[in-house]
Order: sequence, then structure tokens, then C-alpha cells
Amino acid sequence: MTIHPISLDSPIKTKIAWARDCMHALGEFLAGDKVITSLCRELGEAIRNSHAAMIHLGIVEECRECEDVRGGSCCGLGLENYYSGNLLLINLLLGVDVPQERIDPKGCFFLGAKGCRLAVRDVICINYLCEEITSRFSPEGIAELREREGIEVRLLFQLNERILGLLAEQEKTLNERRARA
Ligand code: SF4
Ligand code: SF4
Repeated sequence: MTIHPISLDSPIKTKIAWARDCMHALGEFLAGDKVITSLCRELGEAIRNSHAAMIHLGIVEECRECEDVRGGSCCGLGLENYYSGNLLLINLLLGVDVPQERIDPKGCFFLGAKGCRLAVRDVICINYLCEEITSRFSPEGIAELREREGIEVRLLFQLNERILGLLAEQEKTLNERRARA
């Protein structure tokens, strides 16, 4: 495997394979970093808080009905291409079993029967609320949700940067060793 982060233009299955290989080779090393452990814990909590706000507001129920009754999911085909290999690696670090096959031929690669199969989502997915939702739910409730999502996005950014930094260090060390050999 290459430690260097995989290009965003790579096919989704190649990015998943890179993330799995990286987890296999460096998962223990990454999980041993105190900053990463702490950020993973905080991010997991922030994701649960955002989800709790969505349940409380009724958005989760509304989206389920939209999927099941109206057949109108916003998790369309191709949205998976916004996902970087690193974001998939973060899902693995948080214990998510990143899917390896698409279920819905017309949907996003990560869409499952009960919604998204990832826990750590890209900003594009975290922030998206359709007009139906923003117009029907209370502005105060939406503002509270946005605040929680803001924390989630900030922690995700910090974790992503930390992992990229450590991977770059590992790559440099490996290249120096190879040059000496
Ligand atoms: S955000 Fe809107 S379009 Fe997307 S699933 Fe929910 S209700 Fe449907
Ligand atoms: S929320 Fe999940 S299933 Fe929906 S578009 Fe984003 S990654 Fe895909």
C-alpha cells in the first residue's frame, strides 16, 4: 500500500481499499496517538449529539418517510465521490464497518436500507437540509442543530489534519529508510 493519501478522483472502491489497507498497516500506530484518541472520542460524541438533535426535531422521521413513502432521498448516485480515503479511514478508526458494495443502484454508494451506513460524513452531507425541512421546522431548532453540526465539522477537520500530518511523517520516515537501504 502507499501511505500517501489517495487522490480524491480515485474510484470509491479504490479509496475504500486504501483506507482498509491503511487501517491494517497503521491503525494501531494512529490509535496510539493521544490527540487522535481524544479527537475520535469527541467526534463520536459530537455525531451522537447532532443525531439526537435531528431525532428531537423530527428530521430523522421526516427523512425516513421521504425515503419510504415519497421515494425522495437526497443521497443520490455519485455523492460518494466527495469522500476522501482519509474520511473513510476516520470511519474505520471510529469502528465503522465501511461498506464495500453499493446496495441501491440509483443511490449513493453508502446508502443503506436504514439511511447512511457511515458514521463520519463529509461536510456536504452534514450540512445538507432540503427546503422541505428548513421551511417546516422551527428556526430555533434548526439553529440548535446547526450549532451541534458546527462542532462536528470542527472536530472532523482537526482529526483529518492530525491524521494527514502523521501519515506524512510516516511516509517521510519510510522514504528515508528506503534511500539508506
Ligand atoms: S433532507 Fe429532504 S430530500 Fe433529503 S431525505 Fe430528508 S426530507 Fe427527503
Ligand atoms: S449521507 Fe451517507 S448515504 Fe447520504 S449522500 Fe452522504 S454518504 Fe451518501
